[in-house]
Amino acid sequence: MLNGKVALVTGAARGIGREIALTLAEKGAFVIVNYNGSKEKAQMTVDEIKAAGGSAVSYGCNVADFTACGEMIASLVKEYGHIDILVNNAGITRDNLLMKMSEEDFDKVIDVNLKGCFNTMKHLSRQLLKQKGGKIINISSVTGVMGNAGQANYCASKAGIIGLTKSAARELGSRGITVNAVAPGFIETEMTEVLSDTVREAMKEQILLKRTGTAREVAGVVAFLASKEADYITGQVISVDGGMAV
Ligand code: NAP
Repeated sequence: MLNGKVALVTGAARGIGREIALTLAEKGAFVIVNYNGSKEKAQMTVDEIKAAGGSAVSYGCNVADFTACGEMIASLVKEYGHIDILVNNAGITRDNLLMKMSEEDFDKVIDVNLKGCFNTMKHLSRQLLKQKGGKIINISSVTGVMGNAGQANYCASKAGIIGLTKSAARELGSRGITVNAVAPGFIETEMTEVLSDTVREAMKEQILLKRTGTAREVAGVVAFLASKEADYITGQVISVDGGMAV
């Protein structure tokens, strides 16, 4: 289904990004597994893709670094000729109540989560326009829609991703390029394993399906948005949250 397509997935060494990389590769895409700190885990993801019969390489780049993102995109286009699918998945949290949140923690989260998406999209957009096609999928969050106490920086970054997604969809749509966001709810990864049992139970209470989600469930929706079947979907925010934000 994605045979011949080149996909770049940011933050794909672990968590949701890793599952997205595995799923796109399963569907036939050649996957670039981007990482920042987790070089070994990125290589393990590449090895797992290859062991399953797929193709992938890893590429280290801090998505918050504008120049480095430009170099990554240019070098990948030079090497592989095209990039058809961009999944902006890299993300971090630095949680605290607004009154206690440091300027540094606010800036850091915006830099990685929101500016990171801008950095890759900006550098790839000219190439996608030349190709007259491509799929951009940005990982937002249910908290970008609802807000969340203790996560003002994170929620602002994830709400910003929605505005960025819709604007880019408007700019790039006439060339057949789709830009969508996926808004996961409470997904079991390293990002959420730090939450206390009390917070977990309180969150589960808000979820209509009364359970947390899996990275695989998010990856399936991303793979759908990257596929031909989703050619007529753009500028949308698709929730994968068990009904948390209904
Ligand atoms: P995770 O397990 O903490 O993984 C985060 C990933 O982001 C890692 O692969 C990490 O790479 C990468 N990353 C962080 N900073 C980076 C940077 N500067 N440059 C490149 N990569 C960077 O988190 P996750 O739960 O899988 O989250 C993945 C995405 O889903 C995030 O955008 C998150 O906000 C979003 N999300 C998660 C949930 C959830 O419940 N888990 C819910 C809604 C949205 P390295 O390890 O290589 O540094």
